[in-house]
Amino acid sequence: MRDVVILGSGCAGWTAALYLARANLKPLVYTGTQTGGLLTTTSVVENYPGFPKGVDGTTLMVQMMEQAQKFGAEVEFGVVADEVILGRPVHRIRAGNKTIEAKALIVSTGAGHRHLGVPGEKELETKGVTYCATCDGALPMFRDQPVVVVGGGDSACEEATFLTRFASKVYLVHRRGELRASKIMAERALGNAKIQPVWNAVVESVEGTKEGKVTGVRVKDMPSGKSSVIGCAGVFIAVGHVPNTQIFQKKLTMDEAGYLQLGPGSRTNVEGVFGAGDCADKVYRQAITAAGMGCMAAIDAERYLAGA
Ligand SMILES: Cc1cc2nc3c(=O)[nH]c(=O)nc-3n(C[C@H](O)[C@H](O)[C@H](O)COP(=O)(O)OP(=O)(O)OC[C@H]3O[C@@H](n4cnc5c(N)ncnc54)[C@H](O)[C@@H]3O)c2cc1C
Repeated sequence: MRDVVILGSGCAGWTAALYLARANLKPLVYTGTQTGGLLTTTSVVENYPGFPKGVDGTTLMVQMMEQAQKFGAEVEFGVVADEVILGRPVHRIRAGNKTIEAKALIVSTGAGHRHLGVPGEKELETKGVTYCATCDGALPMFRDQPVVVVGGGDSACEEATFLTRFASKVYLVHRRGELRASKIMAERALGNAKIQPVWNAVVESVEGTKEGKVTGVRVKDMPSGKSSVIGCAGVFIAVGHVPNTQIFQKKLTMDEAGYLQLGPGSRTNVEGVFGAGDCADKVYRQAITAAGMGCMAAIDAERYLAGA
């Protein structure tokens, strides 16, 4: 019987582990398939406080893991399966051929981004193809260059507007003839002289050099069926995220997109189960916010275990 098990080894999971380990609760962390979480897919993180020169994503995550382990956090490299039984006072989870019982669980399983699934997208990821303008927009490779944002929702509009601070021009490629975004976000984007919408267009491929540098996006104009290439240095794909919460469907309360609904604090609808990070956050989705939520979940779990 464990006091607390943490699902996920991203910023939220390791921060929760650090706090719980320092509280002598010997948390067990299940890493999932991506040890270190999403941040390990980026080379330089420039907006995590404390690193004025920036820090490599994998290095940051290894350091978070080591810091949690130093105080007694234990790590299992495995994935928690969907045979989860949430109960009071004990929850049961299954990973590989093991069943683990815990008084408290912290769900910090993150969220994946939707892909376009077109040629060039995977090959050029981190070389000009990105899924986060806040994270990558200010990188030198995009400064004073044209970039393309793909999508038509709030995220796409926000990313496009944000990118006008750095890029020389932002093409907003959307498969419909009008944006899906809220009125205010859409008006802000379309009112920006640097943003040029490309309506009724689908991305066919991301074009790049042999050395692996984005040079453009091939789009098909749906009404005419004609293809053309928009020259650009970067492609920001903003077609949505999928929270990794499928194993808790019908067990924990989530919104229609699958994000955990929390409150007060990090509490889910089940006593002793807490949520943290991108799996419960469709708004901010940053390393620092995920870490902050991990801290909240750890403190809430600690108080729950103490019977407070
Ligand atoms: C390319 C890229 C660049 C980014 N750059 C920045 C940046 O510069 N600055 C910034 O602040 N943010 C950045 N972000 C966003 C940041 O990575 C995320 O906000 C942050 O990683 C969220 O942390 P998390 O712990 O909630 O989830 P994640 O990091 O997504 O971690 C989720 C964890 O859950 C595990 N998991 C999933 N399912 C299971 C399961 N069933 N059982 C056990 N474990 C499971 C996964 O293996 C993973 O370890 C970037 C994101 C991307 C994709």
